[in-house]
Amino acid sequence: MSSGVAVAIDGPAGTGKSSVSKGLAQALRARYLDTGGMYRMVTLAVLRAGVDPADAQAVARIAETVQMSVDYHPGGDRYLLAGEDVSAEIRGDRVTGAVSAVSSIPAVRTRLVALQREMAQGPDSIVVEGRDIGTVVLPDAPVKIYLTASAETRARRRNDQNVAAGLPDDYAGVLADVRRRDHLDSTRAVSPLRPATDAVIVDTSDMTEAEVIDHLLELVKQRSEAVR
Ligand code: C5P
Repeated sequence: MSSGVAVAIDGPAGTGKSSVSKGLAQALRARYLDTGGMYRMVTLAVLRAGVDPADAQAVARIAETVQMSVDYHPGGDRYLLAGEDVSAEIRGDRVTGAVSAVSSIPAVRTRLVALQREMAQGPDSIVVEGRDIGTVVLPDAPVKIYLTASAETRARRRNDQNVAAGLPDDYAGVLADVRRRDHLDSTRAVSPLRPATDAVIVDTSDMTEAEVIDHLLELVKQRSEAVR
């Protein structure tokens, strides 16, 4: 019986990571886990409780007790916080502005990494996307990919998405936010954003989404043949 393969996909915001990870999961008929959505749910719980995201002890208490689950559907994932569907709210500016602070707290990472490892278990293939999947969550994953692109390309993509969703056209503001989050995510003490030493680095600046997915499918094929 052939067992499934775990694919770890890491990289900063705006590399096309989510769309590519979902597309790859679909092509592989694999499960998909978006760990960023989990950090966003804890952040929402913190904000709703009126807790300061910089108050590590109070945030840790919330992270240790909060109930959350993620249901993946090709038509749109459902993020459930204590049973309530918060899929739209966790993508809003309030959560996006506070998530890097919350995710830099060690107790938050300990709880979420444990949950993510549990969720990734099973005989079927899975694509797990985040910032520390290849380095911390699944260090033994046979396929590790690190997506990257210039800050300007990532800001342009994010701004185009915002405009398409009816938000104001603000390239300069989006670029500043991309740089701010890159800095926070890559300089934090616990699990900073960086490629695993055995990750394949893919620069998506000049690639379409379909080209990236094709390229990753080829990498998965090569790697899983190599470990068989
Ligand atoms: O991927 P997404 O933009 O939804 O992630 C939101 C934030 O969650 C990131 O900016 C980062 O601070 C945090 N995160 C993390 N580790 C992960 C996934 C996300 O620290 N594995």
